[in-house]
Formats: sequence, structure tokens, C-alpha cells
Amino acid sequence: MDLPAAAPLPNLRCPLCGGPNDCAPAGCGRFDVDCWCSQARIPAALLDRVPAEQRGLACICRRCVDAGRGDG
Ligand SMILES: [Zn+2]
Repeated sequence: MDLPAAAPLPNLRCPLCGGPNDCAPAGCGRFDVDCWCSQARIPAALLDRVPAEQRGLACICRRCVDAGRGDG
């Protein structure tokens, strides 16, 4: 069963580079906060590089999103 998580996981690290991802929901433990990542378009190629166990659980950081977009 794939129930949506009741609260964001406190994953504050980018799964790609290990740096801080600045994710507001992860930081405060609630989904009803504004975050840059809710408006950012994450390239699919970038998501492919996230380890399967962290996909959909940890936010990619802005730096990696920008880098992923740059060569697309
Ligand atoms: Zn990153």
C-alpha cells in the first residue's frame, strides 16, 4: 500500500551532493509551508540520479537543480 506520508521526513541533505537542500517542509516537519522546491521543476534526468531509497523522500538542492537544468 502506498499511503502518502503524514509528515515530511527530516531529510535536510541533498541526495546528490550531500549539501543542505533548504527544504522548508523537511525543516519544520509540515507540508503546509512554502518552499522553493514546490515551484521548482526538477529535471527527470536529475531524479534518475537520486538513489532509489531516497527518491521522493529527500529534496535535491537548488545548486544541483540548476546544474541539472543547465546542461539540458
Ligand atoms: Zn545538491
